[in-house]
Amino acid sequence: MATHRTAYERQAPDPRLVTDALADSVPSVYWLDDVGAAPAYDPLTARTRTDLTVVGGGYLGLWAAVRAKRRDPGRRVVLLEAQTVGWAASGRNGGFCEASLTHGEDNGRSRWPEEYDVLEQMGVANLDAFEADVRDLDLACEWERTGQLSVAVEEHQLAWLDGDVLDAAATRALVDSPLFLGGELSPDTALVHPARLALGLARAAAELGVEVHEHSTVTAIRRDGSTMEVATDRATVSSDHVVLATGVFPALLRRNRLMTVPVYDYVLVTEPLTVEQRAAIGWAGRQGLGDLANQFHYARLTADDRVLWGGYDAVYPAGGRLHPRHEDRPESHARLASHFLATFPQLEGIRFTHRWAGAIDTSTQFAAFYGTSHGGRVAHAAGFTGLGVGATRWAAEVLLDLLAGQPTERTGLRMVRERPLPFPPEPLASAGINLTRWSLDRADHRAGRRNAYLRVLDRAGLGFDS
Ligand SMILES: Cc1cc2nc3c(=O)[nH]c(=O)nc-3n(C[C@H](O)[C@H](O)[C@H](O)COP(=O)(O)OP(=O)(O)OC[C@H]3O[C@@H](n4cnc5c(N)ncnc54)[C@H](O)[C@@H]3O)c2cc1C
Repeated sequence: MATHRTAYERQAPDPRLVTDALADSVPSVYWLDDVGAAPAYDPLTARTRTDLTVVGGGYLGLWAAVRAKRRDPGRRVVLLEAQTVGWAASGRNGGFCEASLTHGEDNGRSRWPEEYDVLEQMGVANLDAFEADVRDLDLACEWERTGQLSVAVEEHQLAWLDGDVLDAAATRALVDSPLFLGGELSPDTALVHPARLALGLARAAAELGVEVHEHSTVTAIRRDGSTMEVATDRATVSSDHVVLATGVFPALLRRNRLMTVPVYDYVLVTEPLTVEQRAAIGWAGRQGLGDLANQFHYARLTADDRVLWGGYDAVYPAGGRLHPRHEDRPESHARLASHFLATFPQLEGIRFTHRWAGAIDTSTQFAAFYGTSHGGRVAHAAGFTGLGVGATRWAAEVLLDLLAGQPTERTGLRMVRERPLPFPPEPLASAGINLTRWSLDRADHRAGRRNAYLRVLDRAGLGFDS
């Protein structure tokens, strides 16, 4: 089958418009800039003793600390963050807080068919409980339960819509783009301001009595009798239990080193839309928006009516090594800007103010994996694969259940008990991941048709997604 150009390529704007639109953008995370100066938490400088030590100040670690205190206010909890709270994925994501715990229904049903219905109910209950926590803990994260609009931008994607399918006119009545051929609304998504969520959780944790320390990198954990010794560059914490919530960063447990790979995801934010620009695209319902391509885009409005536009390129860095230089990639940001102007030609002349990227902790099952070590004293989770805003809250409950040692409905799930396959070591990982990305791009250019390599991966449950 011949390759053809995608809708974004067919409608590509004049390259000069792309250059102009990006000319004033700064390589900086809009959400973190928007917050400005955040409260600082002192580094750990003296040896201390606690009941629970949490390593990592992203959503997973913060939720673990908060939920631990909510379960047992008398429990002593220390949280150690290598840099600053929420600086990594948790402060720079799209802010789509979805109910799904399984990276979508298709992935969930194909891997855990017998327990999917329960997982779906737990996901919706988690989203409701999240909303209650936002209110009760005063998280001030601009929570908007808008739902999500998935759109088909190619004829072949229309067949992938299910549920109450909207035709082109009905879709464009919600968000107006000449590229939209049809769509589907799902209710179980809220939007948040990611950085305000992380900082709100840190404040709530501190108010509940959690000792939060920034600039405190954990270098090693080891067991000493019935106590865990958690060493930072400056001091050591002795504790009964440890939660490892280090995201995409090198795992402190050797056994987890090959369980995730980093994949960079790119994002742009526009200046605030004028009243006229907003009227030109509609979007009165402010839904989270995503297209159905393998290499998909996601978009949303901010509180002050900027458009955040991200996704598409998903770049595996050479050797799987993280480095800030991967966050400013001119070709990826230009491609995103071009696709944005193809989607919303009504907004010609608009400027992007911010461009950035973040590393996603990709696992071979596209959803988090869980486990314990050191005789049940240490619990870990990682591998949220770009869908962790909602799922990390649920995962934190799983980790606390595992440390409590009492079986629960959550810890009985096969999704929690079974470990996915690791990635192969380098250089095989690079070769495999890059071949997969190439094949997915090709499928998007061949009416969705997957090549033999992807079909083999699909059969083995090893396809690749961002
Ligand atoms: C660009 C982008 C867009 C995304 N969009 C969405 C979205 O719209 N919806 C969605 O659901 N998900 C999205 N995600 C994914 C989501 O952001 C993550 O799944 C989630 O933030 C993961 O939280 P975390 O706590 O596991 O990891 P992180 O936020 O990465 O936190 C881990 C923390 O651990 C710290 N740490 C690591 N090692 C150590 C150590 N040795 N000692 C002390 N501290 C350590 C790090 O400094 C870091 O702060 C996106 C991700 C990216 C990058």
